Amino acid sequence: GTPTRSSAELIRAESSVLAHNYHPLPVVVSRAEGVWVTDVEGRRYLDMLAGYSALNFGHRHPALIDAARRQLDELTLTSRAFHNDRLAGFAEDLAALTGLDVTLPMNTGAEAVESGIKVARKWAYDVKGVPRDRATIVVAAENFHGRTTTIVGFSSDPVARDGFGPFTPGFRVVPYNDIPALEAAVDETTAAVLIEPIQGEAGVIIPDDGYLTAVRELTRRADALFIADEIQSGLGRTGTTLAVEHESVLPDMLLLGKALGGGIVPVSAVVARREVLGVLGPGEHGSTFGGNPLAAAVGSAVIGLLRTGEYQRRAAELGELLNARLTALAGHGVVGHRCRGLWAGVDVDPSIGTGRQVSERLMAEGVLVKDTHGSTIRLAPPLTITEAELDWALDRLAAVLAE
Ligand code: PLP
Repeated sequence: GTPTRSSAELIRAESSVLAHNYHPLPVVVSRAEGVWVTDVEGRRYLDMLAGYSALNFGHRHPALIDAARRQLDELTLTSRAFHNDRLAGFAEDLAALTGLDVTLPMNTGAEAVESGIKVARKWAYDVKGVPRDRATIVVAAENFHGRTTTIVGFSSDPVARDGFGPFTPGFRVVPYNDIPALEAAVDETTAAVLIEPIQGEAGVIIPDDGYLTAVRELTRRADALFIADEIQSGLGRTGTTLAVEHESVLPDMLLLGKALGGGIVPVSAVVARREVLGVLGPGEHGSTFGGNPLAAAVGSAVIGLLRTGEYQRRAAELGELLNARLTALAGHGVVGHRCRGLWAGVDVDPSIGTGRQVSERLMAEGVLVKDTHGSTIRLAPPLTITEAELDWALDRLAAVLAE
């Protein structure tokens, strides 16, 4: 229907009745299709954030909307107290997609990470034989795995951590992309090494070639689990289904989320080898909404899109264009960039402005992006973007940086 309040009025209203844990760009979106969003005044913007990669297939992809609609007409929730007729198929699809065996369905990314941590600890006690309550998990500095107390407890970002302690013990933080440091931190108490194959929130930090292979070999030798958090890097974003495929590495456990719900419903999953998730028995873990039939139907439809290979191919091909255009901006407002597939961290010359200021200027040009921190902005458009649209967005970026 016709909006009854303007963007300015809605922003003012939000400010008085919502917690201020975000600092959104001053745009109020009311409609979207594909890569384009429209605000309440009818202005259109190209979405180059894509819901932090939850919208890899664009807004309201017809196949995903159709799957959701059909499921809404049949069954939406049973809880896991009963079975539903969608969940087995979803888990079969995930196994075929990943090469792993068993799924623990959850809702949000942070829940998948929390669940992975619980499973790794139980595996350490039940299978590896670590003395009770002595298990450790090695993580990387500058990580981003979510916002729960346990997870922010091993964050190295003071803004994420400070004021939220006391924290869960049992984590060791080592520098990212540093195998000797990882080797020094892993010992007989290590349940798992938990890393992002590419660190998204840190600014799309891509480790050296060979890092993921070395993590795989080290964890195998140390009898520890390799947990890859692919919540942001996975599901086509980097030009392959999973970012770990760039080194042909298979972790013991994958954490998936964001795009798994097609931008429609929150869907996350812990996918692991049978022996690993086999440590969970009835009553030891759960979630009211985890594995609900609406989530499973949308998740299966997402995996159906990925099975075509089209989105991975587009990300790889258009990623070359993105990388080439960013390379050409070096010295013209860009002081550094990292790019894999349709995913880039762009370090803007700080004399031009903060990432926030550049984001605001891009918004005025009709392009929505988000700064990660400092002068770094992240580009992560839907994988459905056309070459012409990507070029247009990068022209706008070039113009803003030339101002
Ligand atoms: N893990 C990674 C790598 C992420 O990028 C994110 C979100 O940005 C999360 C976990 C947390 O996901 P959620 O916000 O759905 O809890």
